[in-house]
Amino acid sequence: MPLSVFDLFTVGIGPSSSHTVGPMRAGSSFIHLLGDALGSVADLRVDVFGSLAATGAGHGTFDAILIGLEGCRPDLIEANELTARRTRMSETGTIILGDSTGNGVEIALTEDDMVKRPLTVLPRHTNALTITAFDSTGQTLAEETYYSVGGGFVTSETEFLEKEKSAEAGAEDGPESSEFAVADSVVEAELESYSEELPYPFHSGAELLERCRENDMSIAEIMHANELSMWDEDEIRHGLLHIYSVMEECASASLDRSGYLPGGLKVRRRAHDWYLKLKAEDPNHDPGYYLEWVNLIAMAVNEENASGGRVVTAPTNGAAGIIPAVLHYALNYVPSVAEGGEAAKHRAIIDFLLTAAAIGVLYKERASISGAEVGCQGEVGSASSMAAGGLAAVMGGTPEQVENAAEIAMEHNLGLTCDPISGLVQVPCIERNAIAAGKAINASRMALWGDGQHRVSLDEVIETMRQTGADMSSKYKETALGGLAVNVVEC
Ligand code: SF4
Repeated sequence: MPLSVFDLFTVGIGPSSSHTVGPMRAGSSFIHLLGDALGSVADLRVDVFGSLAATGAGHGTFDAILIGLEGCRPDLIEANELTARRTRMSETGTIILGDSTGNGVEIALTEDDMVKRPLTVLPRHTNALTITAFDSTGQTLAEETYYSVGGGFVTSETEFLEKEKSAEAGAEDGPESSEFAVADSVVEAELESYSEELPYPFHSGAELLERCRENDMSIAEIMHANELSMWDEDEIRHGLLHIYSVMEECASASLDRSGYLPGGLKVRRRAHDWYLKLKAEDPNHDPGYYLEWVNLIAMAVNEENASGGRVVTAPTNGAAGIIPAVLHYALNYVPSVAEGGEAAKHRAIIDFLLTAAAIGVLYKERASISGAEVGCQGEVGSASSMAAGGLAAVMGGTPEQVENAAEIAMEHNLGLTCDPISGLVQVPCIERNAIAAGKAINASRMALWGDGQHRVSLDEVIETMRQTGADMSSKYKETALGGLAVNVVEC
């Protein structure tokens, strides 16, 4: 299936899309795999590898897998239900497999059932877990390996093998035994199916601009037309407005909370106090204070994410504050939107999210949005680039100016490492979202001063990000083994 705007923006729980949302999806997917064999399960083992194992404690990964195995979904579970399930599991030492209402199969859980292997990285991806279910005689009933590849996306080993098989079948030329040739063929096969299913297929920024030019359409219109092959008009409109309402609720819930974030790092929630101060100092939203409001929204969303609250993955949880913060700017400081009434605001939200998603598709397809794969440039950098493009569109930019804005924002996030202290999505993540939101606004404004012609293309900067990520030491890819994570004394 081609990537949809609703794949790039999903409702989930914090603190991490790859380390919390993805593992929970893997757990619930395994229950579907078990099917009728569920009633015969007597024992279970979960092997967690690489980055998932290294920073799983700080990200709530291990609980997320178990709660997924209880049949819960990250887009539906409430924060208080999560807490209740965690408490019950630790008090009883059991989990209830397969039924989120609590009517599934209860099995005992020991330390040995969750095996953490931080130094073992599976060849396909560093975020991997294998779940095995046994019957009462110790025979394996089912086993599957899942890869949490960023942004909450999960792919199983079986799916990888199927794609490889179809890619190999379709690949008549080229070196058949090369691992890279197979991987490239898989990507090509995916891109092929993408082109078959959409009215305006694009595989690169250049192709996206070409579709816009030949059809005299904006990037949002191209994306919208493609979405219509998956959803109807009402579903797209209501779905996007719902995504925005969850972003808004997330920020406002966070602004009501004070105290310290969980995890033992003693990071104080700042958004609540800042909000009270800012409201008193800037009651009428003077444009001179725009950056303070943008910073506030980004930090509020990321503090909510860090405390395990409900967020929109955009395109990841660690980077979830950037798009809401830049959307806040679009809705309150772009005059045609701020003064245009509700209809103008709804139009701006829809155009912003569709444009940002078109850019997100390019990052997901051509590089990565996973901090564990390419560092923070793939998470915060991609979100900043998506937000810059979305804002440029709302500000009336041409497709070329939108592409320029997205390129500028990523160009100045290249090389950004992922080094969260204690593996918690708090420091540097929360402030980093505010800084990246500011960069996105600046990138849009710079692009709108130009005519869309520029020296470095979005495709070139995406490829540079991918290569930089491939060259980056694993210490800086969500392992908490380098950078701030080892230089800041925890106390
Ligand atoms: S440093 Fe960036 S990529 Fe790493 S956890 Fe924080 S936000 Fe995510």
